[in-house]
Amino acid sequence: MDHPEIDQTSKEQSGERAEREKTPAESADQRTADSGSHDDRNDIEMPKPLSEGRPSVAASEKALVRKPRIGDTMPIPTTPPPGPADPSGNGDESADAKSDGGQKRRRRRGGGGGRGTVRGGQAGDGGGRSAEQTKQPKSKGAQPRKGRRGRGRGRSESDGAADATLRERRRGRERNGKPLGRYFMAVQVRPGISQVAVLEGRSLIEHYVSRPADDVTQIHGNVYVGRVQNVLPGMEAAFVDIATPKNAVLYRGDVQYDPGDIEQRGSNPRIEDILKNKQLIACQVTKNPIGHKGARLTQEVSLPGRYVVLIPNSKTYGISKRLPDDVRKRLRGILDRVKPDEHGLIVRTAAENATEEELRADMTMLLDQWEEIAAKAAKVQRPTLLYREPELAVRVIREEFNADYRGVVIDDRRLFEEVRAYVEAFSPELSDRIEYYDPEAEQLSLFERHHIHEQVHKALDRKVWLPSGGSLIIEHTEALSVIDVNTGKNVGKSNLEETVFHNNLEAAEEIAKQLRLRDIGGIIVIDFIDMEIRDNRAKVVEAFRSALARDKTRSQVFDITELGLVEMTRKRIGEGLLTEYSEQCPDCEGRGVLVDYSMLD
Ligand SMILES: [Zn+2]
Repeated sequence: MDHPEIDQTSKEQSGERAEREKTPAESADQRTADSGSHDDRNDIEMPKPLSEGRPSVAASEKALVRKPRIGDTMPIPTTPPPGPADPSGNGDESADAKSDGGQKRRRRRGGGGGRGTVRGGQAGDGGGRSAEQTKQPKSKGAQPRKGRRGRGRGRSESDGAADATLRERRRGRERNGKPLGRYFMAVQVRPGISQVAVLEGRSLIEHYVSRPADDVTQIHGNVYVGRVQNVLPGMEAAFVDIATPKNAVLYRGDVQYDPGDIEQRGSNPRIEDILKNKQLIACQVTKNPIGHKGARLTQEVSLPGRYVVLIPNSKTYGISKRLPDDVRKRLRGILDRVKPDEHGLIVRTAAENATEEELRADMTMLLDQWEEIAAKAAKVQRPTLLYREPELAVRVIREEFNADYRGVVIDDRRLFEEVRAYVEAFSPELSDRIEYYDPEAEQLSLFERHHIHEQVHKALDRKVWLPSGGSLIIEHTEALSVIDVNTGKNVGKSNLEETVFHNNLEAAEEIAKQLRLRDIGGIIVIDFIDMEIRDNRAKVVEAFRSALARDKTRSQVFDITELGLVEMTRKRIGEGLLTEYSEQCPDCEGRGVLVDYSMLD
């Protein structure tokens, strides 16, 4: 899961996963096939280890695109919702928080949490962003679950007044009784599939697809008891049966262990010393299976709420550095009273204007959730689903909805009621912004009504026109996505350099928009048109970075290379819009050409 709003620390930046696809996956696949296990659940390719393809610390630091800060007119920079289509952040590598550095933060399992199999860890992606992470000394020792469901200390009247101010601050603006806000969300539900569209003004800026009923491939964020099937020392990974048709993969870096449990002591024990075949472990999916690649797991479970992310049995304590000092102090004060000692948490920026009562409610809900998971985990003797992430629409609203949204319209009665009740619980003052769209009573579908339909069509094209006649060609390969910038019909006015420069500036703006809209992640290489003037090159890169800063999904942009290419990475959320809407061409199997073998005859 992704914890959004927390900026990465520079150390963690170095852990930025460039999502390089180049792994010894095929060979591993081969090896396991040969290794004598006849379990065809093992017939998968390895998802790439997140730590691969990582640039140096210095390069990462420099390349990271700084996000808008609180007070900017952006939506709360939240974590993308976890999940498949999930802009989840937690979505994809939502788990990117788990840097190797995170290992240092791991601790032995605290008293909570079921039996040995259930171990918390730091937040999946929380780690990735730069929270102020501190280890809480265990000094406060004995008071177990302080304040937990209780009232904590008594609340004074001035607290009440302060809470009222906070609520007021969160209330959206209105004009003539109509809510104002630059964002708008439309959720269209069809049998087996729902789609969430986010509009800024009237333009579609993000679009997500989910198949809520899919318990096989849309499992990001789910928590399981899994059974270790096969430890692969050569991959520093293990195949784990999680009761889905294919096994999932747990890399060494995502393994949690209690040093007391293993014979082979040492500062960095190997996976084969920690995990044994047939062992049951609690684990959470951080990446959906895609194609032949197995799902990716972590033992560091994290449960996202509206204001905080609970990290069971962890010492992690992160508060977004984007929050002003006084706010952080206030939040820390509240959470110290509310948080049980044995669990960690990350405070989201959405907590800025949350009252104590609301933080407590959020925390309590997550603790209940965890207790239920831990209790189930302690009982089961075979691979079992313990916890299922809520469907996409609910996750997106949990992560993103705030007073900057003038409305959320949902064309499904059941989902509408669920979402409305959810919002009623954490932001009652905004709950009337959740509306039901009755498709029976309306002439047009919800997406047609808001001109989303045609915008999605455009977002599926290979070619994108720029305002002055230039164009982009967006293509995907196994390893990376490539964007070519062309002047096309843009013939300019004064001279070539000027024409090219302006064309590139338009391209920079549009590419940032397209990456977000199309949900393109991983490594991206952009071929801007060559510019003679060094200063112009720098200006284009700068314009590109500032356009990307509006995207809540993390990205890194490296300096333009000798060949005039810009390399970048963008955190992968879902599988990308095109993947969601398409399947491989059966004639050429996606290669795009038909080879005429008859010429060899
Ligand atoms: Zn074809």
